[in-house]
Amino acid sequence: MGKIQVMDEVLANKIAAGEVVERPASVIKELVENSIDAGATEIKIELEEAGTKEMKVTDNGTGMSKEDALLSFERHATSKLKTEFDLFHIETLGFRGEAIPSIASVSKFILKTSTGDVGTQITVDGGHVKKIENSDARKGTMVTVKNLFYNIPARLKHMKSLYTELALITDYVGKMALSKPDIQFTLVNNGNILLNTDGSGNLLKAIKSVYGMDVVKKMVEVSIEDEDYQISGYITLPQVHRSNRNGMITLVNGRVVKNYELNRAINDSYHSLKPDNRYPITVLNIEVDPSLIDVNVHPTKMDIKFSKQEELLALIEKMIQSRLKTINLIPEVEEVESTYTPLFEESKKEQTSLILNRVEEEEKPYQKEQISLDLEEKEFQKIEKQIHEKEDIEEPEKRLPEMYPIALVHGTYIVCENEDGMYLMDQHAAQERVNYERFMEQFGNPKEASIPLLVPFTVELSNHDFIILKERLSILKELHFEIEEFGGNTLIVKEHPTWIPEGYEEEMIRHVIDVVIDLGKDFSIKKFNEKAATMLACKMAIKANMRISREEHEQLINDLRKCKNPFNCPHGRPTTIFYSNYDLEKLFKRSGF
Ligand code: ZN
Ligand code: ZN
Repeated sequence: MGKIQVMDEVLANKIAAGEVVERPASVIKELVENSIDAGATEIKIELEEAGTKEMKVTDNGTGMSKEDALLSFERHATSKLKTEFDLFHIETLGFRGEAIPSIASVSKFILKTSTGDVGTQITVDGGHVKKIENSDARKGTMVTVKNLFYNIPARLKHMKSLYTELALITDYVGKMALSKPDIQFTLVNNGNILLNTDGSGNLLKAIKSVYGMDVVKKMVEVSIEDEDYQISGYITLPQVHRSNRNGMITLVNGRVVKNYELNRAINDSYHSLKPDNRYPITVLNIEVDPSLIDVNVHPTKMDIKFSKQEELLALIEKMIQSRLKTINLIPEVEEVESTYTPLFEESKKEQTSLILNRVEEEEKPYQKEQISLDLEEKEFQKIEKQIHEKEDIEEPEKRLPEMYPIALVHGTYIVCENEDGMYLMDQHAAQERVNYERFMEQFGNPKEASIPLLVPFTVELSNHDFIILKERLSILKELHFEIEEFGGNTLIVKEHPTWIPEGYEEEMIRHVIDVVIDLGKDFSIKKFNEKAATMLACKMAIKANMRISREEHEQLINDLRKCKNPFNCPHGRPTTIFYSNYDLEKLFKRSGF
């Protein structure tokens, strides 16, 4: 044990075909990381057919001498991997340094590199060195990988559609561009630029290159710190959201990491401002003492654990919630949706259209003239200034302006006006919000313990539901429900908390029981309160198609204006949409437009 052994060729080939080189994206990942390690400030990635035909990575890093270049193709002696058994435990080993020989063994590989004087070019075919020659002296390295897996037909069959492969690469390069805004990244497929950052070190500019100007316009800057963590970055306003978590990018000390809990905390911070199953675009960097983190480097991903995770999650929620609270959140008429969404988990069809959009959209800038670039730069600077200066409005009353109801459309939308323009308010959503905040407050501090039911009633449940509910009876008791077993799968309800309005007892208690069962294993008082408040708020709200009086509308608007968040119903849908006077004049093409 402990002796250095040279891996036998069979095992080495298995690795080459297996863990390290899975697909074009993993080749790009290895090559780009090599470029970064070589101190490059410019990295250009050129693909043919999503990399399946050819990949070329060019950098301006330090480059290699002829001797080092030749050495890079030799399989490393390693004390870490000896047997096939060890291969299964490869993810625990921080497995690097095998990339070049592995890639070269399954492709037609050309390495061209120079430290600034004489350049070297080495041609390798399926792992066999074919040619070594001198090349030009441009400092840096260019690696060309053609016909990946041409000598492993089984692997070739394994590859997904070109769009999937391209989506994976675009996603990876996008993340690297965001984590290294001081490196200029260019990604090209079949001659079309997919991504191009300027390497200026400006994170917001990098975000613009990856997600586009429309997303940047709807972003705000965030930052917070405590004695352990220092967090900063940009997040989208709640009206910008996507169907997946891929736009949630977290860096720890400058490196992209994956951590499910972090993403969940970020998403939870937007709770009730947007639908929970839609996700924001966020780029956050966490600076932390490395002794507080435990990093597990995979050949394909990076997992991280924080020793003070609860503290970190609470800090993130505080940062995002307090930031969003200070912003006017009434959506204006136009909708914003990012077109760039190459994803791991999304369906192939969606990926296809997204990538195609991206390609079409980005084709033009390739030939764009300097004038329009200058204009874009100017617009960017304007937006950047706004983002840093975004006005803070503290008092809730000031956030939803005063407005006067003048009509009702389809018994559903209240038309309101004030000197700034016109508002449409969804009466159901608005009342849901008012009810929700009222319930949440009552749940927090019930005045009296509970009220006995004049006529106790029984609830019969399925076996499964009964078992879950039985475990939760003590928690329900804490919430001031008096519910006991009544034989079989039946429960009897004797008392209920004071917040249940008279006349709705049985209906609401049945809903509460549904919430407890739905939450199942996930049950916590906090979640229960949230869910029950949301559900009861909906049940108690006026429905669409119900006509209520002008006075009731005025009351509703006043109540809504007192809410902590008047802009969304508890499901995250908007309560109010604003048409400014400017919007109206524009829509009717009146003077000046
Ligand atoms: Zn509802
Ligand atoms: Zn709702």
